Amino acid sequence: MSELCGIFDSHSHYDSAPFDEDRSGLLSSMLGEGSPVCGVIHAATDADSIRFGIDMSRKYKNFYTSVGYHPELQFSLPEDPEGFLEKALERSDKIVAVGEVGLDRHFEGFDAAHQSDLLKMQIEFAQRHSLPLIFHCRDATEDFLDIMREYKPEGVVHCFSGSPETARELLSLGLYLGFGGVLTFKNSKKIKRAFAEVPADRFLFETDCPYLAPEPFRGKRCDSRMIAEVAKCAEEIKGIPAQQLIDLARQNTETLFRIGKDKL
Ligand SMILES: [Zn+2]
Repeated sequence: MSELCGIFDSHSHYDSAPFDEDRSGLLSSMLGEGSPVCGVIHAATDADSIRFGIDMSRKYKNFYTSVGYHPELQFSLPEDPEGFLEKALERSDKIVAVGEVGLDRHFEGFDAAHQSDLLKMQIEFAQRHSLPLIFHCRDATEDFLDIMREYKPEGVVHCFSGSPETARELLSLGLYLGFGGVLTFKNSKKIKRAFAEVPADRFLFETDCPYLAPEPFRGKRCDSRMIAEVAKCAEEIKGIPAQQLIDLARQNTETLFRIGKDKL
């Protein structure tokens, strides 16, 4: 597929149904010798997804996980959401973040106040445990920024799709920005402009797989290897070689999530 290597996927959903057929074969080869992928972080979304991430983090050497509740699943929480997270932390030493958490005002029937409370609970939980966060924000920029200003959490805004102005504000608050397949889409001019401005030490690469495959795979099932295509597009925007961008993104991922040879 590509000569590029050392890819770290900072945001994946290998628990999704499109991987049911070949999950273990795919993960074994992708996280094995000679693969262009050197690490993957699972973004948890609910209780089952938290269990999945923990199991995989114990099974595969370079598989790391987060624990958290996605805003879109705000009505499918376990009985004691915070207690469930507390217990989960004891089950793996490769839990590197709380996520994916945030605000989503896109889907039908959301409860904005409940979402904000759920997000704040999870930020406080992360801060108490000195963990960074993986944030999701859709159609809720102003409310999200207010919460970021209030808590000043450590973390990444995944699949960043806002304007350069919003990017500047998030960066000034100390957050990282995650970029994936959307960067390669023809109609992503605004995101390309934002990426052009992001400093070398503040961006991560991600897939959000199985969704959002980059061009030329748009519409197909995505997996972590396809970050090579994101990096090639990023090279054109930043004028920095794709391999160098992959290396920078990996270093930033390892820094934010405190993944290192002597740590995890
Ligand atoms: Zn996601």
